Formats: sequence, C-alpha cells, structure tokens
Amino acid sequence: MRLTGYFMPTLKETPSEAQIVSHRLMLRAGMIRQASAGIYSWLPLGVRVLKNIERIVREEQDLAGAQEVLMPTIQAADLWQKSGRYDAYGPEMLRITDRHGREMLYGPTNEELITDIFQHSVKSYRDVPKMLYHIQWKFRDEVRPRFGIMRGREFLMKDNYSFDLDFAGAKKSYNKMFVSYLRTFARLGLKAIPMAAESGPIGGDLSHEFIILADTGESAVYCHRDFIDFDVLGQTIDYDGDLEPIVNHWTKLYARTDDMHDPAAFDKQVPADKQISNRGIEVGHIFYFGTKYSEPLGAVVSSAEGQPVPVHMGSYGIGVSRLAGAIIEASHDENGIIWPESVAPFHVGLINLKASDAACAKVCDDLYGKLRAAGVEVLYDDRDERPGTKFASMDLIGLPWQLVVGPRGVDKGVVELKRRRSGEREEISADAAMARLTA
Ligand code: ATP
Ligand code: MG
Repeated sequence: MRLTGYFMPTLKETPSEAQIVSHRLMLRAGMIRQASAGIYSWLPLGVRVLKNIERIVREEQDLAGAQEVLMPTIQAADLWQKSGRYDAYGPEMLRITDRHGREMLYGPTNEELITDIFQHSVKSYRDVPKMLYHIQWKFRDEVRPRFGIMRGREFLMKDNYSFDLDFAGAKKSYNKMFVSYLRTFARLGLKAIPMAAESGPIGGDLSHEFIILADTGESAVYCHRDFIDFDVLGQTIDYDGDLEPIVNHWTKLYARTDDMHDPAAFDKQVPADKQISNRGIEVGHIFYFGTKYSEPLGAVVSSAEGQPVPVHMGSYGIGVSRLAGAIIEASHDENGIIWPESVAPFHVGLINLKASDAACAKVCDDLYGKLRAAGVEVLYDDRDERPGTKFASMDLIGLPWQLVVGPRGVDKGVVELKRRRSGEREEISADAAMARLTA
C-alpha cells in the first residue's frame, strides 16, 4: 500500500479525551474514530489489526475442536424471558421494539440463542460433546464506557459454548478452552494469566479470567511471578489427550483478582520475592455453568440408559476488539505502538527519505514491487514530506520493520533496516534486506 493513497488520518496532537495510552495511540495512528459514546468506527489500519487478532483467535478455536457458527446481533426477547435473564440483565441490555411491537434486543451475549439452536437438533448422548463459537459484535450499555475500545458499548467478542453429557465431560471441554486460551494469547504476543474468578451474573463455579498485566488495567491482581516464565507455544498439545496435567500446572500457582484475593493465602503460598501485585486487563473469561440454561430452555439429551438429561454447558469469551487496545498497553514506547509480528497491520514500512529524487524512487519502487510479489505486507511512505515526519509516523504506527531508503545510502548501494522493537539499525544491500524480510 502506498501511503499517498492510503486512508490513515494520523493526528499530531494528543487527543485530550483519551486517558490511557492505547486509546491515545489508536486515535493518533488513525486506527479508530468515535461514532458516539462507547461506539467506534474502525479505519483501515485498525481493521487490519482487528482481522489479524480475529484470525488467530479463530485458528486456535478450530484447533481445539470448536466449530464456527454465526448468530445474529439482534435477538428476540422470548428466549431471555424463558431463562429469566430478560429482567435480570438490567439496564446494560439494549432493548428494541420492532414495528409489530415485538420486544427485541441487541445481544450482550448468546447463551440463550445457542442453547435454543442446540436443543432443536440434538437429542442423544451420541451427539455430544460439541463446542460452537462465533465472533460477533455485542452491545452492553455500560454505565461508564471509557478507554476507547477497551470498554466500549459495542464490541467484538469471540464466544464459544460447550455442550456435554455430564460434569466430567464439561471439565474436559473447559480444559480444552483453558489450554487454547494460553496458546491464543501467547500467539498474540501477550502474557495472559489465568486467574481464579467469580463467575459473575452468568453463574456457576468453575471460572477463570485471563488477565494481562498493565498499569492502566481496571482490576487489581495478585499472582506468582513464575507465570511470566511459562512457554506454552513450545509444547505440542494433543486436544484429544488428557489436558488435566497442563491445566493443573497453571492452576496450582496463586493468581487472583481483587474480588477473590486472600492476602493470608497469598503470603503463605507465594514467597515475598515472587509476589506480583499489579493492575490487569481482562482479555478473556471462561466458565462452567452446568445446567443453568439447558434446563429452562429444554436442552435435554437421552443418556445411554435412555434417561433424559439436561446438558452441562460452559461459555468462553475473548474480547477481540479489547485486545487491540490491550496489546498496545502491553507493547509501546514514548514514540508509539510496537506491534507483535502476528498482529501488525503491515510487516514492513518502506520509507523513501527523498520522494523527489529519481534514484531513491527507483530503489523504493523496485523494493516495493518485490516485497509485494513475495507476499510481504508493506506500507510504502512515498509522500513528499520531511524525513522527521516520516520517521515519526512510522514509529507511531509501530510496524515491526522499517526499511529506509535515502540518497546517501543509494549512492553507496545500501538501505537501512530498522527493527521497531529494539531500535537496532543496519546498513545492508537492498538484496540482503529483501532476503531478511522474506525469510
Ligand atoms: P468486564 O469484567 O471487563 O466488564 P465481563 O466480565 O462483563 O467483562 P465477559 O462477559 O466475561 O465480560 O465477556 C468476555 C470478554 O469480553 C471479556 O473478558 C472482555 O475481554 C470482553 N469485554 C467485556 N465487556 C467489554 C466491553 N464493554 N468492551 C470491550 N470488551 C469487553
Ligand atoms: Mg468477566
């Protein structure tokens, strides 16, 4: 993509309405624009990041054996009346009346609808287990939408729902998602710590929140330092095998949010030099809630003995849009965003330091063509701007690599390759840079 033709409305000034760094940087980098309170439009650069996050989340759900569906954003009220949540959900639910006077709502979550889909077609113990997920926009009329897309009213969530015959089966599904979440967040470049949590308004007792450490987080968290050192991507996971040892490995270490925190237990279980107490951002939440929805909504299968049994369910959420902000909170410096390779909107930023110089333009155009032909996503700053402006924009948007072409280098037959994360620079030939970037 050539920057001269790209819609990336960056801002020089820090927007005054933004209180935290990710919100400021997303606005400044031209990733999002507020449409109304807690509701955002995603601009081209933001959409590329959102799609990358979504792709990783999807790949890991599929790998763990979940199947993708797509449920609507607008739901009828009747299923919610059956589950008892139509009233219980309160003012956070956006209620809508259609032209026939029917009560509808913009879904804040999908337990009722997925349970209804399941109960219509699944009748036998042979049809479980099943895990069904979708990635869909939700609406919650938060009292205080803030921090940009981190606590929005409309936000993108991956929500998965598991259906099992009994508790033992449900625990297996829970373990799959537990491990899948560790992998998902690691691939997103994050250290997300599973913390024993209260299950909140959805109910149930087996529940973990996945939280990344960040000073601007909304929750206070307490955990063992060893969480930081685990490497889950180095392990091969057999989702059909016994995941209990991996889950136990993690859950035996102390990790709690403030509502579950027990200072005495923390001191007893975690040596003082291993104690972390920090702020954190919730990026995912998994819970088992048994037959809470299957009973009222009639999701019953016949057991091997021919007895009707309500299925045991769990639900597993990931804040896909919140993650865009959470990743920035975890990875930035004073100049801007530092994207992990896996979610970066482009892999390389190609900077022409002197757009009016024919030799520079030739080297750049050539590199641009070759990188694109090799399938490398490249954003080419071909604007007629001062070098300082170009460096600042490129640092702000945080692409992993910068390839800088200037008249002096071109004379010597070299270009400069810079790593955004470390700031390391190297002068090498254009061919060597190509080889590095396509490796
Ligand atoms: P929170 O405690 O942050 O209000 P929650 O417990 O209500 O979240 P869940 O119902 O567990 O959220 O939703 C699953 C995930 O969706 C959360 O872990 C979070 O990442 C994301 N999420 C929830 N509310 C919002 C929101 N208002 N804006 C953006 N993402 C959200
Ligand atoms: Mg939660």
